Amino acid sequence: MTTIAFIGLGNMGNPMAANLVKAGHTVHGFDLMPENLVIARDHGVVVMANAIAAVKGADVVITMLPAGKHVLSVYEDIAPKAKKGALFIDSSTIDVESARKAHAIAARHELLSIDAPVSGGTGGTLTFMAGGSKDAFAKAEPVLTPMAGRIVHCGDDGAGQAAKICNNMILGISMIGVAEAFVLAEKLGLSHQALFDVASTSSGQCWSLTTYCPVPGPVPTSPANNGYRPGFAAALMLKDLKLSQEAAQSAGAVTPLGAEAAQLYALFNAQGHAGADFSGIINFLRGTPA
Ligand code: NAD
Repeated sequence: MTTIAFIGLGNMGNPMAANLVKAGHTVHGFDLMPENLVIARDHGVVVMANAIAAVKGADVVITMLPAGKHVLSVYEDIAPKAKKGALFIDSSTIDVESARKAHAIAARHELLSIDAPVSGGTGGTLTFMAGGSKDAFAKAEPVLTPMAGRIVHCGDDGAGQAAKICNNMILGISMIGVAEAFVLAEKLGLSHQALFDVASTSSGQCWSLTTYCPVPGPVPTSPANNGYRPGFAAALMLKDLKLSQEAAQSAGAVTPLGAEAAQLYALFNAQGHAGADFSGIINFLRGTPA
């Protein structure tokens, strides 16, 4: 099986690395946080002293890091030390410009690369949105499969990140829309269940309503039933909305609802709810604490 270096073993990276070990791959892992290395070792990851040691001899290198600056700095360190022809997969959610710079670093060192951010949380199956050449994607697909529910090749370098931030802009806007509808329904004396029964089978139907319903009751598995514990933290929603706004500005796209959603999530975060599930924005819209 393949030797895979995995850099960034946090909330997302550790379960992903564990799935690669389960699939029979040898995984050489590194993270800056010693406690994450302890978890990785328990999952069968071979813990390495640093990122350069992890990539030496690896056929595939996966990064799952917080932001573009971390990915670029790690790529600058490890790309010169990697095996020629190795495949670099960055699954972090980062800005499109940094993603394209990361591809350029890889190309400079004769490496294949794809950007492959994910949708789906720390526990569930992941959808990978990939950007890069056909050759790189063909090599990446079997590596991603043990971690994936679905894998979509979205286009050339950066297309995976573009798909991710467009999707999450829809998500942020739609969650606010659904939450506002429930707040209005409350004021009009309409029960949560009645609104859900109508909207979930009508034109208001969307994932924020039917899977992630922001009020307790209609969808028992949604974070609203669990004190708005994430799930998908409001801090990460704000991060993704900011990325979509940066991209909209640099590409000249007009996204007024995306901009408004980013502002509302910035306020929600600033009120101390960065660690709450993003559906908790309903409490902010009502003016009550999450
Ligand atoms: P996290 O903070 O739990 O993990 C990131 C890890 O990277 C940390 O353990 C940190 O120590 C490590 N790290 C940072 N710099 C490093 C370096 N130079 N070398 C080695 N390790 C380094 O974050 P996460 O929740 O795992 O998210 C990772 C990425 O996935 C982010 O880009 C996030 O936006 C994206 N994402 C997260 C979720 C989610 O639900 N958590 C969902 C989809 C996408």
